[in-house]
Amino acid sequence: MANSMRYFATTVLAILLSVPSFTLSAERSPEAFSVGEIKADSGKMASGFLIVPKADDVGTEIPVTVVQGSQTGPVLALIAGIHGYEYATITALQQLRQTLDPASLSGTIILVHIANPPSFLGRTIYTSPVDGKNMNRVFPGDPDGSLSERIAHLITNAVIERADYVVDLHGGDGNEALFPYIYMPKVGDDRLDMASRNMAIAFGLEHIVIDDSALEAPENSTFVDRTALSRGIPAITTETGGRGLNSQQRVALTTAGAWNLLRHLKMVPGQASMNKSVVWLYDYKVLRSPITGIFRATVEEGSMVAKDSLIGTLHDFFGDFIGEIRTPVAGFVNYVVATPPVSEGEPVAMISQTTRATPLH
Ligand SMILES: [Zn+2]
Repeated sequence: MANSMRYFATTVLAILLSVPSFTLSAERSPEAFSVGEIKADSGKMASGFLIVPKADDVGTEIPVTVVQGSQTGPVLALIAGIHGYEYATITALQQLRQTLDPASLSGTIILVHIANPPSFLGRTIYTSPVDGKNMNRVFPGDPDGSLSERIAHLITNAVIERADYVVDLHGGDGNEALFPYIYMPKVGDDRLDMASRNMAIAFGLEHIVIDDSALEAPENSTFVDRTALSRGIPAITTETGGRGLNSQQRVALTTAGAWNLLRHLKMVPGQASMNKSVVWLYDYKVLRSPITGIFRATVEEGSMVAKDSLIGTLHDFFGDFIGEIRTPVAGFVNYVVATPPVSEGEPVAMISQTTRATPLH
């Protein structure tokens, strides 16, 4: 879908939105903040494109908004569209852009509207149509690599490493029926773990998955959130969409989470409401198909299943039954594949064990 890039401006376009700030005091005004060529002065917002130059492919242009508050504060990066079919999060950042007021903001917000334009315009799940790579497996990227790797490298340098807090916004890919949840990394560093935990609780979704896998070296960080964490930056990954749906309910879930996170980080006025009824999920299992063919789910996202329950049946391309998927553990169905195609080794469902007990005490 390289030709799709024609829909983007070919040169950097920075739209400066002036917002009058009558309450500014000179000594508390922050400096301008730039991401690539996109520069936002104190109390203003600027939108434009991060340019990934052409190589063996035509490159791409990543739409980004920088919101620079009129008061000093932390830098929060909100990254949507690493998977381009997860539309609710992309729409949510567009709505945030329309409602954020730089004059009443303390700190800086970097909105990466669509991190993976080839996947978005090509309507592909999981992978880029240009290089066939899953962008959330190639971080921190490679400046001399394929397009997904070059995008990841640019986002790592221009966005993640500039931030104090990072949220990677996902939404269940186009084949996944998903019940909203958050991945909360727990990497064994008290400062990072407490900050990431508070971000997860502030985002407000009822279900939080504890991801306690060991932290990779910064050069092997693989995922967006772990790219941040391995550089000492707290981060979470949210999942608020599914099946390519772009419903206002899912969009609103995402924007509400972002606003409460902004209150928690004291970047906007108001008291954050911290979720007091979290269902903690742990020891999650991703069930995978042993064959290539057709998958027919027999459970729904958000349901509880007993050990050995049937999750779905497998069929050949003529529709004949050839097997079934059962869960080796009892638990909560985070997502289940809801469209027919499945290839050998691909996920068909994720099942987590649940507890109401807080995990850090
Ligand atoms: Zn995703």
